[in-house]
Amino acid sequence: MSETDDTIFGRIIRRELPADIVYEDDELIAFRDIAPQAPVHVLFVPKVRVPTLDDLTPEQAPIIGRLALAAANYAREQGFARDGYRIVMNCNDNGGQTVFQIHLHLLAGAPLGGFGE
Ligand code: 5GP
Repeated sequence: MSETDDTIFGRIIRRELPADIVYEDDELIAFRDIAPQAPVHVLFVPKVRVPTLDDLTPEQAPIIGRLALAAANYAREQGFARDGYRIVMNCNDNGGQTVFQIHLHLLAGAPLGGFGE
């Protein structure tokens, strides 16, 4: 199904690994992070293979919009959009990326503080 064959997230998409999936459509999947950094921590992952943001082509740019829109829809549906949330995408080592298939972190459920705190 997915081209994200060699990553943990590809295995989740193919149901080879279990995950707490909260949303899925033809283009992306969303599931709870295994090591949550906030009361709500959901990862939004495209099904097309893109290892890092640095690999994203101009033709693939709409993928980022779809991930963000799915995260915003989820926040609204779950009732925490007005309280607020954070979306984050890490890129490569200094960005803290550990799984090399692009993904958007959605963090919510508590005040998250500022960067560097
Ligand atoms: P990154 O550091 O690459 O931006 O984020 C990768 C995220 O994937 C981390 O927050 C990590 O906890 C999560 N993660 C790693 N392995 C698994 C897994 O097998 N299942 C789930 N649900 N999340 C995972």
